Amino acid sequence: MKKENSKIKIALAGNPNSGKTTLFNRLTGSKQYVGNWPGVTVEKKSGFYKKDKDIEITDLPGIYSLSPYTLEEVVSRNFLINEKPDAIIDIVDGSNIERNLYLATQLSELGIPLIIGLNMMDVVRKNGDKIDTKTIEKRLGCKVIEISALRGDGIDSLMQASKTEAINSKEVKEIKAFSTHLEDILVNIENSVSSLKDSKAKRWYAIKLFERDPKIKSSLKINSQELARVEKIVDAAEEEFGDDGEGIITDARYEFVSDLTSTTVIKGRKGLTKSDRIDRLVTNRFLGLPIFAGIIFLIYYFVAVIVNGPVNDWWADHVLGEIVPDFVVGLMEKFGASLWLTSLVGEGIIGGVGAVLGFLPVIAGLFLCIAILEDCGYMARVAFILDRVFRRFGLSGKSFIPILIGCGCSVSGITGTRTIENDNDRRMTIFSAAFMPCSAKVDYIAMFAVMFTGVWWYGPIWYFLGIFAVIISGLILKKTSYFHGDPAPFVMELPEYHLPSLSNVLESTWQRCKSFITKAGTIILVSTIVIWFLKNISTSGSFVDFEEGAQTSILAYLGMKLAFIFKPLGFGNWIASVAAVLGLVAKEELVSVIEICAGGVSPNEIMSVFGTNISIFAFMIFNQLTIPCFAALGAAKEELGSKKWFRAMVLYLIGFSYSFTLIFYQIATFIKTRSFTLGTFVGFVLLIGYLYLILRPYKAKEGSVNMGLSSVEAYKNI
Ligand code: GDP
Ligand code: MG
Repeated sequence: MKKENSKIKIALAGNPNSGKTTLFNRLTGSKQYVGNWPGVTVEKKSGFYKKDKDIEITDLPGIYSLSPYTLEEVVSRNFLINEKPDAIIDIVDGSNIERNLYLATQLSELGIPLIIGLNMMDVVRKNGDKIDTKTIEKRLGCKVIEISALRGDGIDSLMQASKTEAINSKEVKEIKAFSTHLEDILVNIENSVSSLKDSKAKRWYAIKLFERDPKIKSSLKINSQELARVEKIVDAAEEEFGDDGEGIITDARYEFVSDLTSTTVIKGRKGLTKSDRIDRLVTNRFLGLPIFAGIIFLIYYFVAVIVNGPVNDWWADHVLGEIVPDFVVGLMEKFGASLWLTSLVGEGIIGGVGAVLGFLPVIAGLFLCIAILEDCGYMARVAFILDRVFRRFGLSGKSFIPILIGCGCSVSGITGTRTIENDNDRRMTIFSAAFMPCSAKVDYIAMFAVMFTGVWWYGPIWYFLGIFAVIISGLILKKTSYFHGDPAPFVMELPEYHLPSLSNVLESTWQRCKSFITKAGTIILVSTIVIWFLKNISTSGSFVDFEEGAQTSILAYLGMKLAFIFKPLGFGNWIASVAAVLGLVAKEELVSVIEICAGGVSPNEIMSVFGTNISIFAFMIFNQLTIPCFAALGAAKEELGSKKWFRAMVLYLIGFSYSFTLIFYQIATFIKTRSFTLGTFVGFVLLIGYLYLILRPYKAKEGSVNMGLSSVEAYKNI
């Protein structure tokens, strides 16, 4: 028996999207990412209950069952079996109870006190459903507490009940959920293995042996005689039932759950709920994509016209452009700081970092909109809609979730690929997770927006470029033997729509802005200082003449040396070259480099760097598709788990972005000027090359190679 006052460990388990993280955040006061798609919580997270610090709560990844097939299942199952929490709270989505109770039957076998938190009761009540919790309690042998994690209803009684169960965990009632015949067989297995005699979870082990679960078989100490007996029992049962052990148990579970819910759950409404009706429209085969595109346009309209207009004028031009520099520079002059120091602080640091931070309102506005779409449930539909599109190209929709997450930050997108079981798909997703515009890219997209005011497609086009690049890249990679294979099936729950919660939305917006601000205050700050010096010290070692401009500086010298690389892409000048190269470290550098080197980011200065709109577009395309930043490379290296794959990815991103931009720039220039040059020729040759790689038929090689780790091995490295 658990002593009062000693630490109590409680695990939160449940299906994906049942509300575990929402509850976890509420209980512990932490700010874990709440998302509307599976795979958001890949790792377990622990925290202490706010109202009782002796209770440690662990939020587990969402799972449908305790079989060891997916990463989420392995993480959750290992935690439950090895760490032996004092109680498990199973969060069950009350509006989708049938599917959720399947897992409950498995959790009840672990010999650990189980409490069911029947969540989403607000939705259940709104739908007019009736759930007979008393009967469910009796049949499952555990407490069922009605809650709403979102609103905070019933949370205290849930925790009270869990604590009581955890402390009194002397014996856990075993329930016999299956037919008496099957139950007899299981007892027979229990009795055949001597090491199971005193195990609290003997029923669980017996079932796993019946299912021939290889991991459990090897983890149990069974001598060969006992094993032979067990095998004989299972063989006989399989013969009798005409199915394999796993199938027999699965059927039995479903039978139990459907029998249970048929008597305890009464759906209030026959026919479609409001959510279903909305889904009929927004996930419609033909309307789904146009509606998605329309929403993106609306968001951009809001961000471009309202936030980038008056709000940005005030923030970027007035606060960061006048008040702060005037104050600081004035202060420095008053204290007699030297001219160069004043310039370093004023032009270099405040100018460079200020330019990056200048677009913070735009980024915050965009993330606010995305957070609202996520929290109300729409983003889950986007994954569903795009799955349909992707599947047509042989890509898994599951790949799209990390890519969507990558819109906030490529690093979290790349880490999010862990949920993809299939190795080929996982690697391919890591390769393309950074094609979307992350917050750093939004920074330069907002900067260039001054060149395209009134162009309605300017903002959204970058999102569609990202999706387009993912598809093109997927089509090309899938045709190679390294990535070939059918897309993995993609199952996801579409949660009911609900009004977004203010705190969730603000929290998620803040988290994304915070990392942006942190970067501006660290890596960007340091690099602006370095850039300022390199720009102001001439190759002969003295300060450059301010009148002459930066042409004689070390930075200009280096930039000019690099410029030939980018000439075929349309931006072969020193400022853009320096920006593109430093952009490999972090994409915010583009803004600070142009600000410091060109002396500002208004139309005149931008035009003096690039010359034409086509060059600006080429510059943006290159930067969107190339290596996103060092942090993302670090994440990719870890997730790919092999140097060979990492090098392949770096080369691939450089080659892909370079050739793609070259095709765009050369062909666009040709269409505009009608003059055919060597560059145009190369552009067309590359285009034909791309078309070939996309359209060629795939020929499978004998025994195609597997270069990396198998999924199961890779999981162990996490
Ligand atoms: P997890 O995958 O189990 O961690 O689920 P999350 O905590 O990320 O929640 C998934 C979605 O369900 C989010 O959009 C939540 O806002 C929503 N949600 C969670 N609890 C409730 C609830 O009690 N009522 C309603 N209506 N929505 C909820
Ligand atoms: Mg979660």
